[in-house]
Amino acid sequence: MLSSLGMTKKFIFITGGVLSSLGKGIASASIAFLLEAKGLKVALMKLDPYLNVDPGTMNPFQHGEVYVTDDGAETDLDLGHYHRFTNSPLSKASNATSGQIYYEVLRRERKGDYLGKTVQVIPHITDEIRRRLVECAKQVDGIDVTIVEIGGTVGDIESQPFLEAIRQFRHEHLRDSINIHLTYVPYIEHAGEVKTKPTQHSVQKLQQSGIFPDMILCRCKDPLDEEIKAKISLFCNVPLHGVIDLIDVKNSIYEVPLLLQKAGLENSISELLGLPQKTADLSVWEKMIQTLIQTKKHVTIAVVGKYLQHQDAYKSVFEALKHGGISNETKVDIKCIESDKIADVDDLREKLAGCSGILVPGGFGSRGISGMIMAAKFARENNIPYFGICLGMQIMVIEFARDVLNLPGAHSTEMDLETPDNIISLLSEQINTTDLGGSMRLGAYPCSVDPKSLAFACYQKEEISERHRHRYEFNNHYKERCESKGLKIVGTWKEGNLCEIMEIKDHPWMIGVQFHPEFKSKPLEPHPLFKGFIAAALKYNDESRRN
Ligand code: GLN
Repeated sequence: MLSSLGMTKKFIFITGGVLSSLGKGIASASIAFLLEAKGLKVALMKLDPYLNVDPGTMNPFQHGEVYVTDDGAETDLDLGHYHRFTNSPLSKASNATSGQIYYEVLRRERKGDYLGKTVQVIPHITDEIRRRLVECAKQVDGIDVTIVEIGGTVGDIESQPFLEAIRQFRHEHLRDSINIHLTYVPYIEHAGEVKTKPTQHSVQKLQQSGIFPDMILCRCKDPLDEEIKAKISLFCNVPLHGVIDLIDVKNSIYEVPLLLQKAGLENSISELLGLPQKTADLSVWEKMIQTLIQTKKHVTIAVVGKYLQHQDAYKSVFEALKHGGISNETKVDIKCIESDKIADVDDLREKLAGCSGILVPGGFGSRGISGMIMAAKFARENNIPYFGICLGMQIMVIEFARDVLNLPGAHSTEMDLETPDNIISLLSEQINTTDLGGSMRLGAYPCSVDPKSLAFACYQKEEISERHRHRYEFNNHYKERCESKGLKIVGTWKEGNLCEIMEIKDHPWMIGVQFHPEFKSKPLEPHPLFKGFIAAALKYNDESRRN
């Protein structure tokens, strides 16, 4: 398999040890970033050891956000990091779970494809894993390096088949693949020193699976002394230049690639894989981080949602808000407001003190809905910038129908099947039923934007494409009534006759979108709606200070 540079395609496998939450996803994305900055074409892939076929059915409290790709794959949230740091293609080929792998092997077994053989983890499951590695590397032309992150921690029973597949793969492609192992080097306060033992043990565990790391990334609080690095190098059988410290960042996760470059990671990888020894120019990225760190401007945005105890449940939304801030040279402080804890309007007013914008993100089920409706009403009546995403758009519509259209029972049939006014409903329940059933609308859909709208002022484009993940839709039966009272439909998927963007006419910035713009935002390419929302919040902030 040749890459765009005419060399054999290269693979980097990233495993993790000691404990979870060390930032393996961000480390993988940062490595990809550094290689891209050298002019290489990189693909990223996540292997997840759990048995769910995809995270789509998992509770956000368990798993965090479900990241959606253009081709409609419901994937792990690490793909969001990959997107924000790199230009890696992201598709169904970029994420595989044990569940998916077993499902495929069992499907073939039922079909009789194995011709009576005993179907086993080795070779059948491992072959399927290896097939997917190659598929990811070939998903678009010219990929030079494929970076594969293995979820979980070395030693987990579930990840064994993945490690075995990698061992086999590496056995066959020794010169063209490396393993980087991420561990934790804790500082023990009372002893006044850092400890390498957990790293040594975790590497031993990895070696038991037949994998010998080429590099060790040591997550630590402060830079490691040469002496400590030498110890890790000796005991873990890795050259000294392969021991890289990954220190805790002070300001932003976007600093990680800079830290890794400084620590020499890029050169070590290039040497091991025979990649061009060109130092990456990171000046544009550096400048972006400087803006983020140095700016004195602040704005506080309230996120009113239901999965806020889990810090990763709205990961892409939080990041996209920060990106909107970067483009406005503003730091965005996020105030999380649990929608089911909002007692009444006074309580809400108190909770919103100091906030210059309200964002209601996506969600499922009826818990916390009335708090979100209260927030939408408060934003509409007080001219506070409001951004409704997916469920947040549906909430904005329900609130408007109840209060302005005088339909007090208006609701989504997701929450109330008996509602007299199903202004949000499944297509099959709506009057002009089409044959699109009641299943989830997933992945990218085109949308035409009204050139006279606020949304257009953000996008500066009439034809856009955005990603969806929802079942319910705005019911066109109510379209005329909404529009005549000032809730405008300004974005539509023409072919499906579905409403995608709505905004309130006589409001400085109240926009609801049925899709998930947060999935497409990047620090250097902030999503136009997030950029516009933060600009509107800044304006609101300035004006309310003046009054
Ligand atoms: N629960 C709503 C629906 O299914 C919204 C989903 C979402 O916010 N992602 O339509």
